[in-house]
Amino acid sequence: MKKDILFLSPVFTHNIWGGTGLRENFGYEIEGDDIGECWGIAAHENGDCLVNGEKKLSEVYREHPDWFGNIDSDRFPLLIKIIDAKDDLSIQVHPDDAYAKEHENGSFGKTECWYILSAPEGATLVAGHNAKTQEELREMVREGKFRELIREIPVSVGDFIQIDPGTVHAIKGGLTLLETQQNSDITYRLYDYDRLQNGKPRELHLEKSMDVITVPAKDPEEQVKRAKDIEREKKPNSLCPLHECGKYTVYLLDVEGTASFPQDKNFLCMSVFEGEGKLNGHPVRKGDHLILPFGYGEVTIEGTLRAICSTV
Ligand code: ZN
Repeated sequence: MKKDILFLSPVFTHNIWGGTGLRENFGYEIEGDDIGECWGIAAHENGDCLVNGEKKLSEVYREHPDWFGNIDSDRFPLLIKIIDAKDDLSIQVHPDDAYAKEHENGSFGKTECWYILSAPEGATLVAGHNAKTQEELREMVREGKFRELIREIPVSVGDFIQIDPGTVHAIKGGLTLLETQQNSDITYRLYDYDRLQNGKPRELHLEKSMDVITVPAKDPEEQVKRAKDIEREKKPNSLCPLHECGKYTVYLLDVEGTASFPQDKNFLCMSVFEGEGKLNGHPVRKGDHLILPFGYGEVTIEGTLRAICSTV
């Protein structure tokens, strides 16, 4: 394999809350009516995408660290998913790196963020909680007052939501979103709406959840960037930063005509969620996921498309 665009073959998951949207709306050839997640860019033991039909991303990362800017990370640092929720996901929280390292066999913690691709009228999701003190949190969890505990916020298409470790969160049925996250699968389930899977409730992780939940929760306005502000601030045909934290920088790329920019980052993940075009002559369309390696040089995209991009 020589250094060029890395095109990835997604890996799919089946989930009790999944549906058929990833096949019907993105054209992915995947059977089943319970498809929840498309792992578009992943190098994780639970999902490792094939690069250019040849090798897994984890192998490419190991064999060619220079394609990823020789960053200081023993594994590919990001995981990019499209999540299509027909039903509500369980209420969860993730640890940070320090807690995960100590309690989860050296795993990364999980910081994640969402860009809303589609949402029904009046959609909400869970981000944060209403407990004011640790004591109040523990009391509400002990008494099972989860519906009072969780904080729902309204969202619509094009909104961006940052979920720091320690944030109680959940995707609600009807939403489709693109998630950019640290390469980790460590999730503590706090509440599952008393649902049953195969006749039994799914396991909850109350103690670990309470260990890591941030109290009080962050102000919702600090977590959400609204579509109207993003659209007002963005410059067409260039990488527009949506959020930068210690774990990733995420961009919206909106191409209408021709976009030209240098790939001057350690690497650049790109997931096209709307439209189609050509990237340096290669056809790209909605549902494609790719990585532009370090030192790739000048990028020219022609067409009409929208993508979420990211790097570290
Ligand atoms: Zn999460």
